[in-house]
Amino acid sequence: MDLTTLSAEEMASLAEEFGWPRYRTHQVLRWLYQHRVTTVEAMTDLSKADRARLAERAHVGTLAPASVRTSEDGTQKCIFRLDDGKEIESVVIPDPPRLTLCLSTQVGCTLDCAFCLTGQMGLLRNLKPHEIVGQVLAVQRQLASNQRLTNVVLMGMGEPLANVDAVEEAIRRLTNKTWGVGFSPRRITLSTAGLATRLSRVAAMGVNLAISLNATTNAQRDRLMPAVNHAYPLETLLTACRAFPLKSHRRLTFEYVLLQGENDTEQDAHRLVKFVRGLRCKINLIPFNEFPDSPFRRPSDEAVLRFQAILTRSGLDAFIRKSKGRDILGACGQLGTLSAMPALIRPTNPGAEPVPHPALLPRYAHA
Ligand code: SAH
Repeated sequence: MDLTTLSAEEMASLAEEFGWPRYRTHQVLRWLYQHRVTTVEAMTDLSKADRARLAERAHVGTLAPASVRTSEDGTQKCIFRLDDGKEIESVVIPDPPRLTLCLSTQVGCTLDCAFCLTGQMGLLRNLKPHEIVGQVLAVQRQLASNQRLTNVVLMGMGEPLANVDAVEEAIRRLTNKTWGVGFSPRRITLSTAGLATRLSRVAAMGVNLAISLNATTNAQRDRLMPAVNHAYPLETLLTACRAFPLKSHRRLTFEYVLLQGENDTEQDAHRLVKFVRGLRCKINLIPFNEFPDSPFRRPSDEAVLRFQAILTRSGLDAFIRKSKGRDILGACGQLGTLSAMPALIRPTNPGAEPVPHPALLPRYAHA
């Protein structure tokens, strides 16, 4: 049994089976999430006898990067091989004083956004909570002693809200201050393509919410993000955003990928202003990151600045997201190796939880 696969409750049951005092549950969890040990033997405040008993039944599973690629700008892309041989990617993004980790939540993705490389893979499977948390622990283990992760974003491969139970459990382990990794939920941002009915789950997790809007009319969004927009068209998404219970000093983030000739006109910018009117929010503009055979183009820098200027003149906070790690295919929408795609197979036990609308049922990749 891999101890990292257990929830806190399951760990408590195990401790009870051993006849251990209650505090021992947190003791073991702290070894996993705060000291990041990789063996039972290293849990040195357990007696030798207790460690031996535990080690008979259990071990500490780890996710080790199969490879790390470093970009000219310092961004690092870690490729992890999971127990079943499937691969996921996480990206470490230095932006002093911040050091942000971008996590994956699925192998591939449920959705089919036309501009996203991961979307082209289809969904291979959902990640388990320990595979999501494992990315954080693995990255923390390999950081230099003077480096610390300051932020975590769930913006890597996958749609977090299509795997919401596992994400919720992972967030619990990442944010628990007593025995967990101890991240403040304010330093964690979950990005969704807009699974409107699940935004309340994000509110309950206490983390920040980012919505990948990317279009301002349903016709346009149907083209760019067909699965999600058929299920939750713009009006539904907007209603859910308005209902989102924002805590004080927080705001929603809308991400908007700028695609030349698709959604980057002045009319688009004006419609975007109207769409978010009355919402406490900021806008992150992401100039499209190209990948091999991508059908879209990145707008010119002038076009991007023009788009931003319309938003800021209307009083919105709009930022142009610096695209980091483009040279290693580590930027937004570039995760998932095309070279791996021919090897994709229809999984026999996908473990993917269906979402309530047929358009969002997992699309599996074909061989
Ligand atoms: N499924 C989630 C998280 C993963 S995508 C979501 O949709 O939010 C993370 C961000 O990258 C999204 O805002 C998405 O719109 C953006 N993105 C995807 N492909 C991109 C590309 N090729 N260039 C720039 N941004 C892209």
